[in-house]
Amino acid sequence: MSAPRLEIDLDKIQHNTRTLVDRLAFRGIAVSGVTKASLGSPEIALALLRGGVRGLADSRIENIEAMRLARVPGAMTLIRSPMISQVDRVVAHADVSFNTELEVLSKLSSAAISAGKTHGVVLMVELGDLREGILPGDVHDMVGEALRHPGLTLEGIGTNLACRSGVVPSSENMAELSGLADSIEATFGIKLRVVSGGNSANLSWVLGAASVGRVNELRLGEALLLGREPLTRQPIEGLYADAFTLYAEVIEAKQKPSLPWGEIAQSAFGELPPAIDRGPVWQTIFAVGRQDTDPEGLQPPKGMEVLAASSDHLIVAQGSSSLPAGAEAAFQVNYSALVRAMTSNFVAKVLAAPSIQAR
Ligand SMILES: *Cc1c(COP(=O)(O)O)cnc(C)c1O
Repeated sequence: MSAPRLEIDLDKIQHNTRTLVDRLAFRGIAVSGVTKASLGSPEIALALLRGGVRGLADSRIENIEAMRLARVPGAMTLIRSPMISQVDRVVAHADVSFNTELEVLSKLSSAAISAGKTHGVVLMVELGDLREGILPGDVHDMVGEALRHPGLTLEGIGTNLACRSGVVPSSENMAELSGLADSIEATFGIKLRVVSGGNSANLSWVLGAASVGRVNELRLGEALLLGREPLTRQPIEGLYADAFTLYAEVIEAKQKPSLPWGEIAQSAFGELPPAIDRGPVWQTIFAVGRQDTDPEGLQPPKGMEVLAASSDHLIVAQGSSSLPAGAEAAFQVNYSALVRAMTSNFVAKVLAAPSIQAR
């Protein structure tokens, strides 16, 4: 098989999804399956749907279009604010989009009318992480605007924490979101169908909270795909953390000094040379690099240590011997390494669903 390649176990993704969908259902929360790390892969989307997600969500309209083209069923939400240059595509392919700008709402409204459609809108509220969101004091005005625009239906409100600044979802900020939902409904005499509390970083809050208030949806990506909770990156109990494995092939294996020689200036990626002389080390070079993945996000097999990486080389130290040229090793990926591997054309994707193939 060709290398580098990302082997993807769809059964593990389905299991992770089913487990979290069931755990959250107890708290009255539905899961929207976030596909942005999987580049609109229809097989991965279908695994999420088999695991019980209520709908699919992606940050890029291109991925939503790819899933529609592959006839993936279900509601699809664009969870990044639409670019005005893409409103026609958004209205054509996404059922709902997340929004924070009046100008965008107005363009979505015109696009929906020309397409003879209604487009759902979730207004995102800024609760401290300083990424997207309407400031809480401005939310009521935006609700008024959303309701005034023909072709749009206000589906609800949402927020996103932990992504830019690492702000932790808490009983305080989640209560603020619930409070806004209540006050919007009271002021405008409407019912909000969705109160979308956040992403995988909300899991600890949900599972530990005395009450989840009005929150009735989470949008989960990393937790479903990698089985980890992003605030601490600890594995979630009962989930697989190894649904994705990156295989790379050895192209050089030699014992070399641990320190470079000659005059030292900047390296290609600004990395500093090692400071400590460890004596000669078995240095293995894998044919995988920054064009394929995020080397900092790779976990090598036991006994191997990643020393450095360039665009095309991953340099690994091994103990007393090395894998020979032509051998392969399996690396576990974090979210950053996964996203880069999924988006790299150099990395083959090999999908397996043992349970389906066995039938
Ligand atoms: C990426 C993203 C998510 C999913 O985040 P995970 O940490 O992968 O669960 C949810 N909501 C929004 C708005 C996002 O951009």
